[in-house]
Amino acid sequence: MSVKRVAILGSTGSIGMNTLEVIRAHPERFKVVALTAAQKIERLAEQCAEFKPAIAVVADEAGAVRLRQMLQEKNLSTQVLFGAEALISAVVDSGCDTVMAAIVGAAGLAPTLAAARAGKRVLLANKEALVMSGDLFMQAMLAGGGELLPIDSEHNAIFQCLPNGFTNHPQGQHGVEELWLTASGGPFRDLALADLASITPEQACAHPNWVMGRKISVDSATMMNKGLEVIEAFWLFGLPLEKIKVLIHPQSVVHSMVRYRDGSVLAQMGQPDMRTPIAYGLAYPERINAGVAPLDLTQLAMLSFTEPDTKQFPCLALAFSAAAAGGTAPTILNAANEIAVAAFLDMGLPYLQISQVVEQVLNQIDSAPATSIEQILAVDTAARLAAQNYIRDLRH
Ligand code: NAD
Ligand code: MG
Repeated sequence: MSVKRVAILGSTGSIGMNTLEVIRAHPERFKVVALTAAQKIERLAEQCAEFKPAIAVVADEAGAVRLRQMLQEKNLSTQVLFGAEALISAVVDSGCDTVMAAIVGAAGLAPTLAAARAGKRVLLANKEALVMSGDLFMQAMLAGGGELLPIDSEHNAIFQCLPNGFTNHPQGQHGVEELWLTASGGPFRDLALADLASITPEQACAHPNWVMGRKISVDSATMMNKGLEVIEAFWLFGLPLEKIKVLIHPQSVVHSMVRYRDGSVLAQMGQPDMRTPIAYGLAYPERINAGVAPLDLTQLAMLSFTEPDTKQFPCLALAFSAAAAGGTAPTILNAANEIAVAAFLDMGLPYLQISQVVEQVLNQIDSAPATSIEQILAVDTAARLAAQNYIRDLRH
């Protein structure tokens, strides 16, 4: 068994920490060669002391100075770099063969794309990168000749339920009829629309089943997360959009399903614990202990499945229409949503205005065929600006 050399983009976040937990339990299988983080320098220093990567990357020079000092005190020889270019170095110059892409949002696109081009095994948690650049990202993966393994629990579940090789030769093959993405419905599933007006960031971040970063927690509450995941599934698995369905399943036990032509429906079940898909991606095609408690079906009262109400969750409807429009529409959707969620978390934008901001920006900016990464980044910037302007107008 050869040791896998792993770079983690976003090692101080929820996915990054869970990845290190799985790696910690299997030192004979994995060696961490690069760690990156934007803030939380102390936590990154502790991670460097434990895993001794060759490279550590932070966002800015001030952070790098602090981290260097902390590592010097610990007599560590990890090379400390900073900035966007350095994130790409962490992927291409660290000697890694596996990259955990777990930076949140569009900030993760460039290094994840670099991993794709460099032919790495890409463990994709950063769904926003794929939503923004779907076609071009998949082309980069193909050109690089690496392996793309989904870490998002729903896509990991579907990957596990598909026949071997499906992701390389989809489109009507192997008798696959539909993909069913399950969604918990988030903390506000049963609230009336009127009660949503006063939702606070703390309430939105308290997910009933999963512990996650703040941005994805808000996305789960609005169900924009599921919308992004529909687009993610479209690119990963290459089925037409109308074959990708969403089901509300509040228990989060069935992580997603594949319906086949012969009447079979295959589901992947487990605890709502990201260490399962992370361990699957890290060791694929082997199965290793993820440290996750066994699922006890006798302890479950029931499993229920219903169709989502798009009036309750307008973000889901917006994501479906951006997916259908194609081109740069998902880029616009994602950028406006990132700005709206940040404004909700940090600037008091009312919860119900998140979807309004996204809708407004989607109406304001025409989508076009996606032709290059430079164009996508320009559209991303324009959509962020439009969202910021609209939010400013709303506040006055
Ligand atoms: P998080 O907020 O907990 O962590 C984000 C990480 O990215 C941190 O290490 C942070 O330092 C880093 N980061 C943030 N902004 C950055 C920037 N501008 N430049 C460089 N680094 C930056 O988020 P998370 O919950 O771990 O989610 C990470 C990604 O995984 C997201 O795209 C999310 O949608 C996806 N995901 C998460 C979960 C989950 O259970 N947490 C499940 C499925 C998918
Ligand atoms: Mg998910």
